[in-house]
Amino acid sequence: MSLTAVTPAIPARSVPRIGFVSLGCPKALVDSEHILSRLKAEGYEMAESYHGADLVVVNTCGFIDAAVAESLDAIGEALAENGKVIVTGCLGARDGGAFVREAHPHVLAVTGPHAADEVLQAVHAYLPRPHEPFVDLLPPQGIKLTPRHYAYLKISEGCNHHCTFCIIPHLRGTLVSYPIGSVLGEAETLLNAGVRELLVVSQDTGAYGADLRYRTGFHNGRPLKTRVAVLAQELDALGRARQAWVRLHYVYPYPHVDDLVTLMRDTAGSEGGLLPYLDMPLQHASPRLLKAMQRPAAPEKVIDRIRAWRRALPSLTLRSTFIVGFPGETEDDFSTLLQFLDEAQLDRVGAFAYSPVEGAAANALPDAVPEEIKQERLARFMEAQAEISARRLQNKIGLTMTVLVDQLAEAKQGRKKTVIALARSAADAPEIDGLVQIADGHHLQPGAFVKVNIEAATEHDLIGRVG
Ligand code: SF4
Repeated sequence: MSLTAVTPAIPARSVPRIGFVSLGCPKALVDSEHILSRLKAEGYEMAESYHGADLVVVNTCGFIDAAVAESLDAIGEALAENGKVIVTGCLGARDGGAFVREAHPHVLAVTGPHAADEVLQAVHAYLPRPHEPFVDLLPPQGIKLTPRHYAYLKISEGCNHHCTFCIIPHLRGTLVSYPIGSVLGEAETLLNAGVRELLVVSQDTGAYGADLRYRTGFHNGRPLKTRVAVLAQELDALGRARQAWVRLHYVYPYPHVDDLVTLMRDTAGSEGGLLPYLDMPLQHASPRLLKAMQRPAAPEKVIDRIRAWRRALPSLTLRSTFIVGFPGETEDDFSTLLQFLDEAQLDRVGAFAYSPVEGAAANALPDAVPEEIKQERLARFMEAQAEISARRLQNKIGLTMTVLVDQLAEAKQGRKKTVIALARSAADAPEIDGLVQIADGHHLQPGAFVKVNIEAATEHDLIGRVG
């Protein structure tokens, strides 16, 4: 068995070297080229012999029995000659990787075909990429516009729904879920870079993997279904291992969200991991209007579902957004919405007066609501929610809670200026929810977790002292 020679000359400097065995059809060969190109771009060198390699990648074939045997032999030879082996390709996908692992339990990682991202992750895990000052102008986590201690983790692009007020599916296309291995790899990179809170975002987080028919992906050689519950479980484990929070946004109330709440309940009280927090854009509560909006998820069951979630997990924070003044909204529809708000007792709510978006189907709907009525309903809606929010925050006075410090800020106490810390609890996403003001937090660093005794509350914020 010979290794694919990629670089004719081996430079004198010490750089990590990878041996590559490429088997199978032209499609597998293209996969090999793709992986090799990326490894080379990252500064790895290719080895011409097993002994000159720090690690060997074997791209396998699993088409017929002879190809399976040849692939297993190649893996065995690489293990015997080198010892550090990552397996990729068609044979790697058999039984979710178990077939290869049964024959060769000592391989470092196994992925399926077309899995360059996963192979690169596995290589990084066992043979860190070389530092190249002329190439590595970026930090591993890339350029981030958020503060250092939190980051958004995008898991998919596009959307399969056709909400009549929205043009995102026209702009960004239908749902394309990112491979679960890449998402988890990015999460690890961010956590390694010091991120203390991952904010999972997409257009429809609950639908993650539906476009891929929930196919099996790989992370560090482990087969994982591309499903939101699996992703949440893995992110929870990563978050707990690194003491970082994981927060889910844009989760529609599909039935399988019950599984996410169960996971949150099972992990509640851990240091880090999945937060008991759901950001669930509902947009309205009147069945007639939701139909006109063509919203996903049936509205009738939402209250029942919220009650069941709260019974299972009383610490669950529910956030939502609503549109008032959608075309055709009557005073009755609006009353239904206010009644829903009263029954749901959501913790955090954002609301907008409907405004037409160029190209949206809703523009063609009759019975536009006059602007002054929209604004008047928006004010009534926000007033009703402010009372609910204030009441719910009052219930937190006397609690001790873990918060994440965002920044220090100047505050006035009478005539005196003082420095306080602004932080967030598990119930507060950055930018959209409230804050926890720490009156004696002048010594705290952004990105630090700290326990705070809650002493007072305003409509949207809590006020406390370091516990
Ligand atoms: S509003 Fe509707 S169509 Fe637009 S992104 Fe959300 S679910 Fe998709």
